[in-house]
Amino acid sequence: MGVDLGGTNIRAAVFDEGMEVLGRFEMPTLAQEAADDVIGRIAACVREALDRSSVGAGDIGGVGVGAAGLTDWRTGVVVLASNLGWKNVPLKERLQQQLDGLRVEVDKDTNAAALAEARLGAGREFKHFLYVTAGTGIGGGLILGGALYRGATGGAGDIGHVVVDPDGPPCGCGGHGCVEVFSSGAGMVDRAREMLSGGAQAASSSMTVEGLTTEAIFESANQGDAVAAEVVETAGRALGLALAGYVNLNNPEAIVLGGGVARAGKVYTDPVERELRRRALPALGEVVRLVPPALGDDVGVAGAALLLAEPGANEDGGET
Ligand SMILES: [Zn+2]
Repeated sequence: MGVDLGGTNIRAAVFDEGMEVLGRFEMPTLAQEAADDVIGRIAACVREALDRSSVGAGDIGGVGVGAAGLTDWRTGVVVLASNLGWKNVPLKERLQQQLDGLRVEVDKDTNAAALAEARLGAGREFKHFLYVTAGTGIGGGLILGGALYRGATGGAGDIGHVVVDPDGPPCGCGGHGCVEVFSSGAGMVDRAREMLSGGAQAASSSMTVEGLTTEAIFESANQGDAVAAEVVETAGRALGLALAGYVNLNNPEAIVLGGGVARAGKVYTDPVERELRRRALPALGEVVRLVPPALGDDVGVAGAALLLAEPGANEDGGET
């Protein structure tokens, strides 16, 4: 069973050994409610997905959960998840109690997604790649030597907070000039608003301080609006710069770049690729491929289920 715990929805799906979905269920997270209520809904979602797949709880290998935030996979504690409003929530322990001792493994959602792409998607042909998801925020997961690499406490792969401008705008993490403040959907909206408030003249009527969206920025950029084009160009370049640093450090074969913002297409990914090639060491920049992900909406639940088979899930001596 894989569970994708997002800020908006909880998704659960039961998979067979060939990773075909046998049954699924989804409900709203209602993250504004107490963490225990959310965990109760995860458990309800798990039971309903089991019912719908006609599989007994005793017949599954466990429940893998990909949580939207920094998660220590060794303890199953969600350390910090701004979308959920969680800080140090012992998700694994509490969910296990609710599910009568069923095996539960917890990791951050982008690690689960990286794993799904590695086993089932665009990463199948690569042993070393960085998975990046650029949406409202920017996150990532790291596959090294074919295995998920989590770092010391679970935070590896978080390219969103690599600093590309030390004197840049403040970031939600407390720092300044992180990739996320330029290259994420929310960051692009903030940067565009800044330019418009500062007197920049946009040609497009949808480029207004009030009600500005990422979609409007991309649409305006595609129509030749200079303010929107600059925001998108800056976004792509900032991400490309951070990726070049990563390429120089770890010599990956590929970067799998997905997420809602990356789906805008070449208007965003072209400046990413241009900056990446320009800034990386030529010998390393030449080999790395920038590719889109291959999996759709099920990447989260599939990756969460795959966590159960990933070595290191119980490194600290868990139940299994
Ligand atoms: Zn940051």
